[in-house]
Amino acid sequence: MTEASNAAAFRAIPAIDRLLEHGAWVVAREVGRPARRDACRAVVQALREAIAAGEATVADCTVDVVVAQAVERARADVRPVLRRVINATGVILHTNLGRAPLSPAALQAVADTAGGYVNVEMDLDSGERDNRLDKVAAAFARVLDCADVVVANNNAAATFLALAVLAGDGSGVAISRGELVEIGGSFRIPDIMETSGAGMVEVGTTNRTWPKDYAAALDAGATVLLKVHQSNFAVVGFTHEVTIEELVELARPAGALVVHDLGSGQLHGDPTLGTDSVRRSLDAGADLVLFSGDKLLGGPQCGIAAGRQEVIERLRRHPVMRMVRPGKLTLVALEATLRAWERDPTGGEIPTAAMLARPLEDVTAAAQSLAAAIIHAHGDRYATEVVAVDATTGGGSSPLVRIASAAVAVTSSQDSANAIADRLRRSDPPVVARVEDGRVLLDVRTLLSGDLENVVTSLR
Ligand SMILES: *Cc1c(COP(=O)(O)O)cnc(C)c1O
Repeated sequence: MTEASNAAAFRAIPAIDRLLEHGAWVVAREVGRPARRDACRAVVQALREAIAAGEATVADCTVDVVVAQAVERARADVRPVLRRVINATGVILHTNLGRAPLSPAALQAVADTAGGYVNVEMDLDSGERDNRLDKVAAAFARVLDCADVVVANNNAAATFLALAVLAGDGSGVAISRGELVEIGGSFRIPDIMETSGAGMVEVGTTNRTWPKDYAAALDAGATVLLKVHQSNFAVVGFTHEVTIEELVELARPAGALVVHDLGSGQLHGDPTLGTDSVRRSLDAGADLVLFSGDKLLGGPQCGIAAGRQEVIERLRRHPVMRMVRPGKLTLVALEATLRAWERDPTGGEIPTAAMLARPLEDVTAAAQSLAAAIIHAHGDRYATEVVAVDATTGGGSSPLVRIASAAVAVTSSQDSANAIADRLRRSDPPVVARVEDGRVLLDVRTLLSGDLENVVTSLR
């Protein structure tokens, strides 16, 4: 590359204004003028550097070539940061992928209301102001078959609210040392307890806790017995834990309250996922049952506190409630989710419940079609094989449960497994897969309808 040809290339770089006037922008209506200009400048700057490095010539400087790059770059710059992603990981409640996808009924409810006004705080019969949480409480309490309900932004908020209200004056809250859990990042029971003002009374040991341990705490003045689902770990071997039924039996005569942080809100027990459920804890007589809206309930992110009316009423009246109350979109989606559970208690309308329940034969048949479609579309670029894998519930709901599933293992003679996984993640729509033993595994159990075709195109 001579200096003269470099100089010619520099002179050939189109002016920014010329690039901005180019007809190529018609395909990029979503890009505003400032973003167009920024993209042109960035592309021109990169071109200058390439010419200086001897990597670009006059031929790379035509208006058509440069503007095409600027359009592509500008469109990428304004693409939403949060996008619909295809979950091929086999982790049903994938926290990094936003946990539960909403049901068609919840989506419809949001679509029907979100573009307009919603009677969040108005009684339509009287025209008077009412409380957004009272209104949904009645509907929710019916579905959950409990006395009363309050909804917060997430279950961490519901737990904090409960502790602040019931023991924020420093009252003793007894909890087993085996349940002092940390759930993803910053949710740590001892920290939440301290921040709420409650006085934590640790009972039992890491692996074994007995009724007499809680009884001693009650004798020493504890006013709340808190049980927390271990969620993302399990203690196996020489273990003992006190059931929610036993806790209620201990607390009643002492006038203490029982609060159960269930984590995942399995409404009715599902023997494959463990024996805890909202129903069981309410039937046992827990005063408050706390659970997430976007774990096994399959709804929007929120935290639900269900239980005794006097206790819920105290939560609702507390100043912290105003800080953790959910917005209208959450309430609308949650109501539709609960009604879907009411219509079909097996969860047939709830995507995550359907994924869990889908028979292995179905999943395997879908994996076979995916494998065939990949070969059909991409020829010998990829090799595919249907393999048996284990899916998991994720979301800290049942750490030991493995759900038999089927995946398409993809390999290529041209690309490493990591390169294929990168390509999938960067495609549109992005596909998130696992890499294991040098193969990309596309677990079909967590694919939603329509995803199969998208996975095939994303491999391009
Ligand atoms: C997941 C979980 C939480 C936190 O719930 P979020 O809805 O994520 O705030 C609290 N407690 C337990 C036991 C959990 O499993």
